[in-house]
Amino acid sequence: MKNISKKIIIGNWKMNLSYKDSVILGKKIINNLKGKRIKNEVVILPDFSALSSISQIIKKPLVLGAQDIAKNKLGAYTGEVSLESLKQLNCSYILIGHSERRQYFFDDEMIADKMKNVLENSNITPILCIGETLGQKRSGKTLLVLEKQIKTAFSKVGKLTNKKIIIAYEPVWAIGTGRIITVADAIVIHKKIKSLVEKICHNNLPKELGIIYGGSININNFSNFKDCSDISGLLIGGTSLKAGDFLNIVNNF
Ligand code: PEP
Repeated sequence: MKNISKKIIIGNWKMNLSYKDSVILGKKIINNLKGKRIKNEVVILPDFSALSSISQIIKKPLVLGAQDIAKNKLGAYTGEVSLESLKQLNCSYILIGHSERRQYFFDDEMIADKMKNVLENSNITPILCIGETLGQKRSGKTLLVLEKQIKTAFSKVGKLTNKKIIIAYEPVWAIGTGRIITVADAIVIHKKIKSLVEKICHNNLPKELGIIYGGSININNFSNFKDCSDISGLLIGGTSLKAGDFLNIVNNF
């Protein structure tokens, strides 16, 4: 199992912007990066309503991803968005199991099926989000929680040996709170996540694995996470809504 070849910066816009504002932000980022040589992979995750418009104007080096995916293939599943559509919109990445989905939309139960759907039916890279709550951290359960989340996510997947997978370690207590993990703690946990994947997928390891950090990253703290071989990139929420700040991170990580 290799590390992903380029570090990756991902902007998760969540449901913070309307369709029109998403297109405006998308255009700012696209125009700024168009034709530039960026050493990192740069991904934006607009909401579903904006994917189609942005997919028509997006230019390399920027690539597109989706914030979620249906667990089923096409069919009578009102309100869901299919993998087939995301393939047609040239999504390169799909977020699975973000803590807000786990908390508000009961995604825990569906994560294994979503991972299976993406990995078995596309070449799209899943970004699996894992992380402990403050209560779990305080009671010393972080590693147990992460192990359970990884075990569940990989419980239904088929052959992984030709697949690339990103795991985003996002402590729930750090998302949108302004509280941030120390780099030393992040490194310890990232190493542990890698060894958990090795244990859980032992004879079926993904070809490439990237373990990235997310939670209250901003322009004042992102550089602390730079140049750490165990931290393959960043998943950025709030700060990715400000084009200037996001681009600053993209250009300097
Ligand atoms: C996120 O929701 O994935 C995230 C990292 O949010 P924020 O950067 O706002 O903490």
